[in-house]
Amino acid sequence: MLWEKESILVLVKAAPNWSKKYKKYEICTAGVGETAGWRRLYPFPETITLKEDIRLWDIIEVETTKPSDDPGSESRKIRNGSVKVVDRIEDQKERRRFINSLAEPYLEKALEEKRSFALIEPTIDGFKIVKSEREPLQFTLNGRLFRKHPYGDVKLIYKWSCPKPCRYCKDNPYTTRCFD
Ligand SMILES: [Zn+2]
Repeated sequence: MLWEKESILVLVKAAPNWSKKYKKYEICTAGVGETAGWRRLYPFPETITLKEDIRLWDIIEVETTKPSDDPGSESRKIRNGSVKVVDRIEDQKERRRFINSLAEPYLEKALEEKRSFALIEPTIDGFKIVKSEREPLQFTLNGRLFRKHPYGDVKLIYKWSCPKPCRYCKDNPYTTRCFD
């Protein structure tokens, strides 16, 4: 397997999700590379996030390779033991500049490029919190407890549109559940 060393600014850490395949919690972690644009790192074991104390705005160095089972162009697998935090953006103004430079007016460009990530400054049309049933605890074969979505009993639901309407939101706003 061909591994490539990349520096990635971490901008997304999803809520932990139980992986049936890997039998542990994975945290989909994403960000932007120095030249590569968006990168989605998966599987990304929760144990690495905790051990390396990876936070949003950290710059990590990681060895990655293209997965064979995920056609998304920005997806990468990470090499075991290769993740380390090398720097961090702390300054609020610098963060704001960064976010502004990444923001897109709508989803069209991401759709064209078959990307699964885009940063949109949404127009919020509504927000509600819905309490729902907690899913039952499940056990792995070796007795470990897990829930598929550990935060599944609270639903945060946004209605939003792209600031410049795209083909999907021009008539109806999106309804998106936020998991984090
Ligand atoms: Zn849209």
